[in-house]
Amino acid sequence: MNEMESEKEMAGFENFERMFAQSIGIEEPWRVEKAEFDSGSMSVHIYILAKKTAKYQCPECGQEHSRLDNEEERVWQHGDVVFYPCFIHCRRPRVKCERSGKIHVVEAPWSRKGSRYTMLFESFAMKPVEKLPFEQARKSCRSSRRANFCASAIHR
Ligand SMILES: [Zn+2]
Repeated sequence: MNEMESEKEMAGFENFERMFAQSIGIEEPWRVEKAEFDSGSMSVHIYILAKKTAKYQCPECGQEHSRLDNEEERVWQHGDVVFYPCFIHCRRPRVKCERSGKIHVVEAPWSRKGSRYTMLFESFAMKPVEKLPFEQARKSCRSSRRANFCASAIHR
């Protein structure tokens, strides 16, 4: 691919990124950094950045604290994008609570605490699989994290 083509592709993704950000409810200081289609694994990967200089709500006391650093990259499964599995990647910011001095990871707006799925994925994509047997349900959502997935999809 030459440089011109690669620029064109980036421009084409601009709209997609905005649309995507809206669909999972992120706004400043979170933003979509890039969206990629991996032709090897036939999946879509969205990378989200949390602004370094912003303040974030502390999960402990609820006050806003300055960002301390980031956690390691974490991945959430999201609903399919044009029939391809879609994954969100992000290094969530960490804050140091000014009251207790403890360090906390800031929860991502698209996910429940501790979940490896986006809330949209949980509420829509899992609906049709609730009544399927274990194996079929897992295949239908193309989930590789079977224990985790099946526990939340079937036993709710
Ligand atoms: Zn705090």
